[in-house]
Amino acid sequence: MEVSFGKEVRQLRLGGGETLHGEGILAITKALLQSGVAYVGGYQGAPVSHLLDVMVQAADYMAELGVHVEACSNEASAAAMLGASIHYPLRGAVTWKSVVGTNVAADALSNLASPGVMGGALIIVGEDYGEGASVIQERSHAFAMKSSLLLLDPRPQLPNMVRMVEQGFALSEACNTPAILQLRVRACHVRGSFECRDNVPPAVSRKALLAEPARFDYEKLAHPPATFRQEKLKTEQRLPAARRYIVEQGLNEIFAGRRSVASDDVGIIVQGGLHNTLVRALQQFDLADAFGAAEFPILALNVTYPLVPEQIADFCRGKRAVLVVEEGQPEYIEQEIATTLRRQDLGTAIHGKDLLQMAGEYTVEVVAAGLVKFLARHAADLPLAAAQDWLTANAARRQAVAAQLAAPLPPRPPQFCTGCPERPVFSALKLAQANVGPVHVAADIGCHSFATFEPFGFGHTILGYGMSLASRAGVSPMLGRRALAVMGDGGFWHNGLLTGVESALFNKTDAVLLIMKNGYTAATGTQEIISTPDEEQKAGAPDKRLSLVDRNQTIERTLTGLGVTWLRTVPSYEVDAMRRTLEEAFTTDAGGLKVIVAEGECQLERQRRVKPWLASLLKAGQRVVRVKYGVDDDVCSGDHSCIRLSGCPTLTLKDSDDPLKVDPVATVIEGCVGCGLCGENAHAATLCPSFYRVEVVQNPGFGERLLAAVRRGVIDWMQPA
Ligand code: SF4
Ligand code: SF4
Repeated sequence: MEVSFGKEVRQLRLGGGETLHGEGILAITKALLQSGVAYVGGYQGAPVSHLLDVMVQAADYMAELGVHVEACSNEASAAAMLGASIHYPLRGAVTWKSVVGTNVAADALSNLASPGVMGGALIIVGEDYGEGASVIQERSHAFAMKSSLLLLDPRPQLPNMVRMVEQGFALSEACNTPAILQLRVRACHVRGSFECRDNVPPAVSRKALLAEPARFDYEKLAHPPATFRQEKLKTEQRLPAARRYIVEQGLNEIFAGRRSVASDDVGIIVQGGLHNTLVRALQQFDLADAFGAAEFPILALNVTYPLVPEQIADFCRGKRAVLVVEEGQPEYIEQEIATTLRRQDLGTAIHGKDLLQMAGEYTVEVVAAGLVKFLARHAADLPLAAAQDWLTANAARRQAVAAQLAAPLPPRPPQFCTGCPERPVFSALKLAQANVGPVHVAADIGCHSFATFEPFGFGHTILGYGMSLASRAGVSPMLGRRALAVMGDGGFWHNGLLTGVESALFNKTDAVLLIMKNGYTAATGTQEIISTPDEEQKAGAPDKRLSLVDRNQTIERTLTGLGVTWLRTVPSYEVDAMRRTLEEAFTTDAGGLKVIVAEGECQLERQRRVKPWLASLLKAGQRVVRVKYGVDDDVCSGDHSCIRLSGCPTLTLKDSDDPLKVDPVATVIEGCVGCGLCGENAHAATLCPSFYRVEVVQNPGFGERLLAAVRRGVIDWMQPA
């Protein structure tokens, strides 16, 4: 990974009394070190990638502290890493994106939660829910409930987030239960500051080794008959201990209201992570000030599982009505609160999903709309007009904008980076299908999933990260034409090798697997994998895009070692060669699994490496050649078939100066990285000959200057101004 987190790494070193300014996720990372964490692992994914990325780049400092950091191959291996805290007094933290990562980790989580832990175990999940989400909309809450894991949802304010990390470890140890710390996208990126404490080197660490392994203890295995006792321990000891600790340490926060608390008053119970949103919504009513002080009492649940029935009952007792603000469905918290009140025979009215929307992100507007209904019913004396006016004005503004548009705005889906090596592969697939007919395409998670959008529209299903090959297992036998599974090298190592390749070989599957070997787990931030070219390889070929990833043959060796016999490696940018190879794979008489490795380094990562290198050459006055592509306006026929075959953002349209050309012509704008696809497509698809390739020479030699001057002179003579 060529991105530098040097500033963040320096902030991790801040000591007691110093102030850290930054984002929530950095505060969480620092808080781990302040808590004496001994080991950290995880699998990257928004919005928590930053944690592991920073830790990995802080390797020297981690070694100083004796902290072990591991970039795990998937979330299951990260969750299994927490097994270290079962027998040893080691505090450990792992991280991943949820809910998808928690799904992958679920097996290990169950086996961890059952015996419980001795050292504090914290699972920091990026709860990717809401408008900016990139995964299925489900809640991690369900995992906490089913496995009796603690679930922390800290109020997004940096000192509180830091406190919840430190208390999360202590809580985990107090009840021998692993804890999930859930961070929404906004919590990860909320900015603020907090006063640091010194980092705490762990008592047992890479620098202070254990003399002996723990003694054998069958009771610590998630294996019958121990599991029967462990279930009883969860309900009879661990969860009660957790509830005691939550109350004693004041983990949940009660904000007294400014309004006098009369016996018939109202209150709000909110997930900690939604507290800021709630306060902002109350501000629309003038019912909260800029510092968050609200008109009536709020119980902010920094721990959303387990709830403490007595605390809930105490908060609700004497109130006419309480609103539960809980994002996502189903309404686990609301149901539990309702049950608690019924069991305690309390008559407080409970509202939540009956007044707030059931699913989707709880934005300020959504919460305000629910509050209007709640307060109108139970506190009609409060001033609601301002908020009602605000909501009405928002709706009117939207309607006015919609009315001004002749048609809805076209969708603007994400797409491949300019010059991405994966785009040419799908151009080739488009051409191949024109010859062999349409094929079933099992898509996967990764940058290549952008091919599901225009101009490609490839991908019948996406069943999970690395699952494409497995997901076509039931389709292949039912189709007359071979199915294609597309997978990235990140997905291959995450899961695809075992769930897909191993299974396909064992079952003698007749299918085609296309592996995008770009050298990184590109979609999550170009993290390195086992097949990433090493520094020596990169240093030896800073400007080579085709052969760089070729130098690491781990994927190819693994495939041949497993028994793949039909294996072709094709440079991604060679569209015609890729088309021919795909056609061969779809039509060959050879049975079994056919694997095509499309080889081309991630362009984003390549540019991060090449740009500084070129700048250094220019600074030193050395000759630099950059390739650019262009379209000759006079030749372009305006049929746009090149755009339909490419989708590159720098290959676009412009109005033609030619009065005989009604349609706009193609043009290449600034930003073209000269990947060569335009030329390859023009050749492979026999497009019009309007594309040209130029070499921009900086710091040219004397001979080149002379030649250029002669050429300019000849052109000026032939085309006088
Ligand atoms: S990050 Fe790399 S692999 Fe992903 S779209 Fe951009 S260039 Fe392509
Ligand atoms: S050569 Fe064509 S496809 Fe490649 S970056 Fe330039 S415009 Fe885009």
